[in-house]
Amino acid sequence: MADTEHTQFKIAYTIARADMQHLFTALHARGYETIGPTVRDGVVVYDVVENVDELPAGWADEQEGGYYRLHPGNDGALFGYTTGPQAWKRYLFPPIMRMWQARRSDNGFEIVVEERTPPIYAFIGVRACELHAIQIQDRVFLDGPYVDAEYKRRRDNAFIVAVNCGRASGTCFCVSMGTGPAAGPGYDLALTEIVDQDTHCFIVDVGSEQGASILLDVPHRPATRAETERAAAIVEATAAHMGRTLETTGLKELLYRNFDHPQWDALAERCLTCGNCTLVCPTCFCHTLEDVTDLTGQTAERWRKADSCFNLSFSFISSGSVRASARSRYRQWMTHKLATWVDQFGTFGCVGCGRCITWCPVGIDITAAAATLREDDIGQPQVEPIHQMA
Ligand code: SF4
Ligand code: SF4
Repeated sequence: MADTEHTQFKIAYTIARADMQHLFTALHARGYETIGPTVRDGVVVYDVVENVDELPAGWADEQEGGYYRLHPGNDGALFGYTTGPQAWKRYLFPPIMRMWQARRSDNGFEIVVEERTPPIYAFIGVRACELHAIQIQDRVFLDGPYVDAEYKRRRDNAFIVAVNCGRASGTCFCVSMGTGPAAGPGYDLALTEIVDQDTHCFIVDVGSEQGASILLDVPHRPATRAETERAAAIVEATAAHMGRTLETTGLKELLYRNFDHPQWDALAERCLTCGNCTLVCPTCFCHTLEDVTDLTGQTAERWRKADSCFNLSFSFISSGSVRASARSRYRQWMTHKLATWVDQFGTFGCVGCGRCITWCPVGIDITAAAATLREDDIGQPQVEPIHQMA
């Protein structure tokens, strides 16, 4: 894990495409399990990637509201796609995990605490928005009064190879959220891929001592001025071609004063309350706890499972579900992302990755929903959000 007080190393280096396997070898030699992008079932997923040849070479995605297609290209770029449906949270905050067991004993029962060997992950291909999403989850799981021990172990061990984006998808809006497309502090190494007619290489920024140490085992040379300028131009061009925009000025207040906007009814007519948007979102972390027993009654277990604020059961209390309607659940999700999250954690809960737009089966678009509120601000007086339920 890169130092929080990150020092930007000013010298950039160049790794030839032909030498990229050495990066994997260097990480494996230090005990890292390399997790990266690979193509499966027509999408880019994150999985164990042992070899550079398993990366999605030549694949590029096309994304719009409710639409994702991968197309083979001929440039051979290893990171020519943008983002897939999965986020790194599945490795740092597993969607299903046993917390502890209880076994019946002569005197009652005894708690068996889970003892796991924490995985040592190297994440390869972390985009700028995703790095911000990880740091937002750090605030939730590490910076509050209660630290999530399992998240901390996984996060402390993680080595991050970021990739600056060479293109934006139709649903990206990281520029609006100030989270990309250039990776900010928090990486160990950051790559910018250059694919030209006669060149295929990676310009590398070193973000930590661990990154510098790994780089020693990968053939590299100082980048030329032309290479660093080309890398900067690639990222600038990406920033200029965002698929979406979201105006964030006064956004929190805009949402707070529009709890009764008619748009919530219109969105509710479309929303299937499927929860896809929360599953794919790299910052969403809602979960539930389930207790189960075996048939003999000798053992009980407590499991943590990913949940969604779109599930009726998520807000169930003694008298029923607090948010019974699709209207209240969509409004809750969007208001949390763009308003109450700011009050809770000092940042938006959205990094502009666009996943919730792409993977919404009916193409509901958080940027369009925010724009509608801004265009038709009914300006009701601010109320305390915690009391807004139905
Ligand atoms: S906004 Fe879209 S993805 Fe989210 S719950 Fe509604 S239909 Fe599903
Ligand atoms: S709310 Fe949507 S665009 Fe924002 S981080 Fe989550 S999935 Fe990405």
